[in-house]
Amino acid sequence: MLMEKRFKGCLFGLAIGDALGAPVEFLSWPQIKKKYGDSGIKDFDSWGGFAAGTYTDDTQMSLATAAGCIDAWIRGREKGIWHPPSVVYAKYLEWLKTQSDPKQTRGPGHTCLSALRSGKMGSVEEPINNSKGCGGVMRTAPAGLAFPPGQAFEQGVAFAAITHGHPSGYLPAGVLAEITSHVECVVLMSRVEE
Ligand SMILES: [Mg+2]
Repeated sequence: MLMEKRFKGCLFGLAIGDALGAPVEFLSWPQIKKKYGDSGIKDFDSWGGFAAGTYTDDTQMSLATAAGCIDAWIRGREKGIWHPPSVVYAKYLEWLKTQSDPKQTRGPGHTCLSALRSGKMGSVEEPINNSKGCGGVMRTAPAGLAFPPGQAFEQGVAFAAITHGHPSGYLPAGVLAEITSHVECVVLMSRVEE
């Protein structure tokens, strides 16, 4: 039960923060202050033609990571095949297919799109490009839910390296996954329930 709460807390927090920040993602601080005041954005707002509270590609791809982790565990248990990055890659390809739907096109990163369209799965050993963008780290928090400390780093790195080939593109993803795997969300969740 506690585990379930932690998973939900992480994913809801991710989606809410993503939706909150979406309207200002590409604005400078002076532009944000001009539009939302000195405290910056404090509530959901519409962005890019979407209703207030709509999350972006960051959450879409994080959900793909989460779904991939679940399938990886099932595949491992039922078939004895253990290679989570391959399963997560398949989920990213499913996400790619949704990107032809304007309702689902929510600011996808160029690197993610081009890497997935290449038909090749990137890895640390065989980098797909030289990208150090944020598209790897933005989607890897669920790796910290699915894998324990000590394993989360390696998996997070592998998931990011599918599309981002520079160490600065995939190492932060490993760090985020590892930190997430260590975080105790009990206090946070008790606040959410109030
Ligand atoms: Mg984004």
